[in-house]
Amino acid sequence: MVSEVERGLPAGAELVIIGAGIVGASTAFWAARAGLSPVVLEARPVAASLTTPASTGAFRLQFDNREETELVRETVDLILNFAAITGQDAAGLAVEQPGYLWATTSEEKAAMQRRLVARQHSWGQTDIEILTGDEARRRFPYLSRDVVSARYRADDGFADPRALTLGLLQASGAPLHVSCRVVSLRERPSGGFDVGTQSGHIRAEQVVIAAGPFTAQLAALLAVVLPLEVKPRHKVVVPDLARVPPDAPMTIDDDTGTHWRPALAGAAILDAAPRGPGREPVEDVPPSSGMAFRVLDPSSPDAAARISPFWGEAWAAGELSWMVHSGQYVMSPDHRPLIGQASIDGLWVNTGYSGHGIMCSPAGGRILADLITGRLEDSPFALDRTFVKRSLDQI
Ligand SMILES: Cc1cc2nc3c(=O)[nH]c(=O)nc-3n(C[C@H](O)[C@H](O)[C@H](O)COP(=O)(O)OP(=O)(O)OC[C@H]3O[C@@H](n4cnc5c(N)ncnc54)[C@H](O)[C@@H]3O)c2cc1C
Repeated sequence: MVSEVERGLPAGAELVIIGAGIVGASTAFWAARAGLSPVVLEARPVAASLTTPASTGAFRLQFDNREETELVRETVDLILNFAAITGQDAAGLAVEQPGYLWATTSEEKAAMQRRLVARQHSWGQTDIEILTGDEARRRFPYLSRDVVSARYRADDGFADPRALTLGLLQASGAPLHVSCRVVSLRERPSGGFDVGTQSGHIRAEQVVIAAGPFTAQLAALLAVVLPLEVKPRHKVVVPDLARVPPDAPMTIDDDTGTHWRPALAGAAILDAAPRGPGREPVEDVPPSSGMAFRVLDPSSPDAAARISPFWGEAWAAGELSWMVHSGQYVMSPDHRPLIGQASIDGLWVNTGYSGHGIMCSPAGGRILADLITGRLEDSPFALDRTFVKRSLDQI
């Protein structure tokens, strides 16, 4: 499913897309659909090899705002109809829909769940259920007796992020140049851009920066400042743990943000979204073993065992062995994506998806292609919007 890797840069291109993660791939797919001829430049030797494969691959139609809900709705439609929409084989996407379950042990949080679900219903997402603690335990017997309420949507799930990315790239038909790091960006006096890479220069009428954690650094080459922070984000993988119910939904402790999903005959497990200061972007993110102990050690306040006691039993029985897979979140001040034109004509940005790039960017690429071609004049994700701090999703 990999796009043919091109040798030798063309002298010019109508649209250069920098980055072949899921965001660049989706942008290339929708740009090509809109009649443009994109060329994709990727610094690494293969596409989809930086942040995208570190992700948990989860999608959910349970958000705290309507705009991201709509992005995910469009993405899910693409994922579920991938072969028909893209003409690509969808088998590798490994789509599963066991649901997403947020469980709480607090009555105060239970009231918040009821308020949030009422809002989600008002946005048309009426298939999200509120379950009492007993109902939740009846459906998901692994839950702790302390759970008093849960919100649940049965059709949420997971897909393979790398297969999705490679499928979109292939479907775009865009030439993909790998090991082709962009090192300089200049405006040309006659219009457009000169894009300097390790492998030579290419003239571009328009440029999209979709370089994940490196997007702000690239924009800075043109003196464009983007309001972005990059934060390390770790995923603990516990393979081959028979205690994990293989058909369990993504199970989230709504009080702490710790969450896990079945994977590799065991589970992938994460804590709440990163809250520390931003860091410089890196190519190799050092894994955090501290994070693994935070979610696995039952004495930790963020332990997965808090609402799913089998994790504590596995710890006590010495059954847990794990590895940590790390990536980076790219976060705007309101933790929603930046999709649109920067302060220079013809310079576009698609990034800032925080922990939601797999489930939001397949639709975000369509929005950007529509902006570039003038089919859309504005979007809620414009770069110059007013960033309103909101009570954010924990994950
Ligand atoms: C641990 C973890 C779990 C996650 N779980 C989920 C989840 O369950 N669901 C979800 O929706 N999202 C999840 N996310 C978020 C999601 O993975 C990201 O939002 C998404 O992968 C971002 O894609 P991207 O294309 O912007 O970045 P990347 O995948 O990093 O792609 C950017 C590409 O640009 C290239 N590049 C950079 N600089 C240059 C340059 N100078 N020249 C050329 N190329 C360049 C890079 O090499 C890279 O290939 C998770 C993230 C992490 C870290």
